[in-house]
Amino acid sequence: MTESSPAAAVEPFLPFAQPEIGQEEIDEVVDTLRSGWLTGGPKVQAFEEGFRDVTGASHAVALSSCTAGMHLALLAAGIGPGDEVITTPLTFAATVNVILHAGATPVLADVREDDYNIDVDEIERKITPRTKALLPVHYGGQPCRMDELQALADRHKLRVIEDAAHAIGARYRGQPIGALTDAAVFSFYPIKAITTGQGGMLTTNDADLANQVRLLSLHGLSKNAWNRYSKGGSAEYQVLAPGFNYAMTDIQAALGIHQLKRLEAFQARRTHIANQYNALFAGVPELIRPPMRDEIVHAWHLYPIRLQLDRLTIDRAHFIEELRERGIGTSVHFIPIHLHPYYRKALSLGPGDFPVTEAIYEGLISLPIYPRMEDAGVERVAAAVREIAEAHRRPGR
Ligand SMILES: *Cc1c(COP(=O)(O)O)cnc(C)c1O
Repeated sequence: MTESSPAAAVEPFLPFAQPEIGQEEIDEVVDTLRSGWLTGGPKVQAFEEGFRDVTGASHAVALSSCTAGMHLALLAAGIGPGDEVITTPLTFAATVNVILHAGATPVLADVREDDYNIDVDEIERKITPRTKALLPVHYGGQPCRMDELQALADRHKLRVIEDAAHAIGARYRGQPIGALTDAAVFSFYPIKAITTGQGGMLTTNDADLANQVRLLSLHGLSKNAWNRYSKGGSAEYQVLAPGFNYAMTDIQAALGIHQLKRLEAFQARRTHIANQYNALFAGVPELIRPPMRDEIVHAWHLYPIRLQLDRLTIDRAHFIEELRERGIGTSVHFIPIHLHPYYRKALSLGPGDFPVTEAIYEGLISLPIYPRMEDAGVERVAAAVREIAEAHRRPGR
């Protein structure tokens, strides 16, 4: 790609996201490689223990991805063909794919305009005798209204499995996300709050569910690698279910152990950046800042602005292009599920089905927010956004 804009030539490209890997992570990975235990070993156990501490959950199971964890959580909860699982249209494909992988039917319920999370009243309208579970997403790192959601689930005897990919470090009414429902599943994909390259963690207070997830993550074997290959282990095992190969490696966990130790510092930095953006965007009528409720602690995985397109002469794609010309990377979270070709066809959905999601989506732009971003970078992004908004202000307002 050639950069023709003079602005881009002067200023270095500011990427949308960047992982923060330090020397401790690197040393731990090297130590793991030298140790001989590459998977199912002590680093995975230590990472799981760290996650139990951070979330307060009694069980944590490290997995190859958040997607794998959500798939297994649904299976372990007994979700299968004929069942319906309700989730949000404003999410990543994986949230819906895992419901399909379990053989169940995804049912979407629109989000709320005031936090972009699934609307509990909309869920209630979508409940049928086949509904078995809810799969809420804590959009951008802001927890859903968990009291209302759990009360509804209790009334209708539904399981709740949280897509907590954005919510590492988030809290609801003082409680960390991870121990509030049947299960929560976190992601360590490189742009997430902490990373293991790829990876996920399921947390739960339900020992049976944790055991079943662990079993299914290791081909359905009655014994894991540690029990089979460590000193004092025994090689015999039985297959108890047709499982998957979804376990986390010790190389991934080596990264995770140190990333988790830095979570508080990372989150403080993300919060600082969000506050900085909020101040710099105060009184800019062309955009709405990310909504934030009082009773939560935000993980600030995303900082999504929402353009007020009726005040602008350009659309979101053009706005993103102008940011790119100024050397600023952005993203869009998310193209709504019901607008993708596969789900339109498979779920008989289409434009107009989720008006709140669509109205939010039209103007959504996720701005860079990550620990190593400096204050000057935040100021540069905010100045560019304000400049573009001003240059394309619709006259007569
Ligand atoms: C990143 C993400 C996932 C997938 O996580 P993986 O660890 O990559 O499988 C699922 N849901 C949401 C909302 C995400 O943003």
